[in-house]
Amino acid sequence: MNRRETIRLALLPTPFEQLPRLSEALSPNGQGPSIWMKRDDCTGFAGGGNKVRKLEYLVAEALKQGADTLVTMGAIQSNHARQTAAAAARNGLACVLLLTDSVADRSESYRSNGNWLLDRIFGAEIRLFPPGGDATAIADEAVAELKAQRKRPYFIPVGGSNALGSLAYRDALLELAEQAKAEGISIDHIVVPTGSGGTHAGILAGVEDAGLGCRVQGVSVSRSSEQAGAIVSGLVNDIYALEGRQRGKQVALEIDHSQVGPGYGQPTPAMIQAVELVARTEGILIDPVYTGKAMAGLIAKVRSGAIGPDDTVVFWHTGGAPGLYAYPEVFQG
Ligand SMILES: *Cc1c(COP(=O)(O)O)cnc(C)c1O
Repeated sequence: MNRRETIRLALLPTPFEQLPRLSEALSPNGQGPSIWMKRDDCTGFAGGGNKVRKLEYLVAEALKQGADTLVTMGAIQSNHARQTAAAAARNGLACVLLLTDSVADRSESYRSNGNWLLDRIFGAEIRLFPPGGDATAIADEAVAELKAQRKRPYFIPVGGSNALGSLAYRDALLELAEQAKAEGISIDHIVVPTGSGGTHAGILAGVEDAGLGCRVQGVSVSRSSEQAGAIVSGLVNDIYALEGRQRGKQVALEIDHSQVGPGYGQPTPAMIQAVELVARTEGILIDPVYTGKAMAGLIAKVRSGAIGPDDTVVFWHTGGAPGLYAYPEVFQG
């Protein structure tokens, strides 16, 4: 495999563990799937999460290009922004975060706590934009302005989801495949949240490379299956193009959009139940924006029989628990 330069940020391998009490809670008659969790909430750096792996590639590239400032975009409670701010600090770079006030009707905590608070502690400069702006224009303007000030900005797209960032999840799948082998299990399904798409795309590329023969089921947190699918399949092709390789046997692209609810960052009853169930059965925190909705998707698939009682399913925990502090009014139980 073509090894690219990376910097070290994450504590790897992340843990891989079985969740027997969650399985039991989802199978009242004792007939339920075996549920495992890949703990990328435990990547260790800056509170953990999936962007840490992507940033190992992206920041290496920024340093190689001689950048002195990382610039990225996201929502006010972006986990990616928080992890980028910390990666900049760790590498002696400045960080400019272009955050959009895109999630309507949130409480005061959304604008003062959670990731927003941590961005400031990591020393990032935050610029806040109203919803509905042209993201490309905002990014281009910020980069041009920094250049005019004789800075050397390196722009990282939303979620770190370009081919280079997504490559990190191809690697992560190979890490999971080794852990599954050591546990002596054969994985039938991987369930993962699909946001900007890089995590899902990297995992798909990894499953294809490893010939793992499992299904990869994305749960969209924002877009329709069609829109998210176009983004993910484009990124899978970009990963292979970046590596100058031909795509082999393709694994089906599956994205469930039934958990989006009113929209990105908007709570749903199923998300709230999923967050509380995982916390109360396994002592594990998932998050209100991504993993809560993805777990709600997993639960719905178990209940409908789409994930069968003899199946082994891996839930990819991509982090995000700092976001819980931005939604205190939602958890009243
Ligand atoms: C960004 C993020 C995701 C989505 O990953 P993408 O690669 O953007 O699809 C999932 N979970 C958490 C906690 C995230 O911060």
